[in-house]
Amino acid sequence: MSTTPRTAKTPTTPVRTVTVIGAGSSGITALKALTEAGLTATAFDLSDQIGGNWAIHNPNGMSAAYETLFMHTSRERMQYSDFPINPAYPDFPRHDQIAQHFNDYADHFGLRPHIRFRTRVDHVSPQPGGGFQVTTTALPDPAPGTEGAPQDG
Ligand SMILES: Cc1cc2nc3c(=O)[nH]c(=O)nc-3n(C[C@H](O)[C@H](O)[C@H](O)COP(=O)(O)OP(=O)(O)OC[C@H]3O[C@@H](n4cnc5c(N)ncnc54)[C@H](O)[C@@H]3O)c2cc1C
Repeated sequence: MSTTPRTAKTPTTPVRTVTVIGAGSSGITALKALTEAGLTATAFDLSDQIGGNWAIHNPNGMSAAYETLFMHTSRERMQYSDFPINPAYPDFPRHDQIAQHFNDYADHFGLRPHIRFRTRVDHVSPQPGGGFQVTTTALPDPAPGTEGAPQDG
């Protein structure tokens, strides 16, 4: 282990635009912090909705939520410090209540306009002068009647 004291590097070029990958519970709070810090931040999400894992039947095909799922961390332990979970919810809320909470959070802090839904981040590559190049793909709209359908596998 190194004993040399570390000093934070000061970036030579101020960061002005930031990409957040995903609009799950982590992405939305990152987006909030970045926009509050005055940065131009955009979150890209494969899905057409907020909530990531907690959006049951998420069309991104990545949610492991199931009908009987509820939080195993308590409401007070789980909630964002600046946006309490609805006190009318049980101590260990259901998956749909948690998904609602994340949507309420996004609406309360005006995050939706900063999220580009149905957009996949394909590649992130560091650039020689600093910063990153982010390659994205806009996904086609789902076939009618398939949106929100349970995913296989
Ligand atoms: C069954 C289950 C129960 C759980 N229970 C709890 C619990 O009780 N308490 C707890 O604290 N945690 C629990 N977890 C952990 C859970 O992962 C977190 O609660 C939370 O969902 C993590 O949020 P996240 O935003 O990091 O990821 P996610 O919720 O997975 O969101 C990731 C988002 O990124 C998007 N994304 C992914 N790749 C790309 C890409 N290439 N381009 C664009 N978008 C992309 C996805 O579409 C998704 O919306 C549980 C997890 C599971 C599976």
